[in-house]
Amino acid sequence: MKGRIHSLETFGTVDGPGIRFVLFMQGCALQCRYCHNPDSWDTTAGTQMSVEEVLAEIEPYVHYYRASGGGLTVTGGEPTLQAPFVAKLFEECKRRFGLTTALDSSGFCDPSHAGALIDATDLVLLDLKVMNREAHTALTSQPNDRILKFAQWLSDRGQRMWIRHVLIPGLTDDAEDLLEMGRFIGSLNGVEKIEVLPYHRMGVYKWQQMGKEYTLDGFTEPTDKEVTRAYQLIEQGRTQVTANIVV
Ligand code: SF4
Repeated sequence: MKGRIHSLETFGTVDGPGIRFVLFMQGCALQCRYCHNPDSWDTTAGTQMSVEEVLAEIEPYVHYYRASGGGLTVTGGEPTLQAPFVAKLFEECKRRFGLTTALDSSGFCDPSHAGALIDATDLVLLDLKVMNREAHTALTSQPNDRILKFAQWLSDRGQRMWIRHVLIPGLTDDAEDLLEMGRFIGSLNGVEKIEVLPYHRMGVYKWQQMGKEYTLDGFTEPTDKEVTRAYQLIEQGRTQVTANIVV
């Protein structure tokens, strides 16, 4: 079995705990306006690699990952598009190296495709973009029904999750939407952490190189204050729900 790989990074520190090997899978069905890897969308591009070939890339650094409490993160693109390959990679990585596994996903996935993959996943980093359905379609090209359903399915399985939200002032920072996101997160089991990721413009050159129109030119990176506000609104929404749970 071969997977289509966009790229890999041997010392990742922002996609899960500790130092991690980060594998970027090729292919994504969304088209987020802020995507910093638009070259990862095409499902027919990338380099084809076997599970053994990826494991050989991981092996030299295994002791660093273990010593730091890190492991393997698979991201994209959208890794669930190649669920059987990633499941096999995770299974082998655990069996051979004893490493923990993290899946960074948009959640745009039908649960029926992801059972074996999630069985082999220790932690899901789930991206929630916006809660309003129309705003989600405008931002990513697709509505969010499938993503919310996938999140609920993970929750029902008691899957450990970190929720991540990319903050773009004027686009993904609406107060009521962030409160609603918090309420949704508060209704889920297994959420250990919420990360607000400040929007950045590092991938803009890729849009230009690919001849694609980048439509966020008027938007700026958030200030620390704006990031704090977003955390507070999400937390406020989350607390509204959890405060209603009678134990
Ligand atoms: S889900 Fe991720 S890879 Fe896909 S378009 Fe959005 S930001 Fe890019």
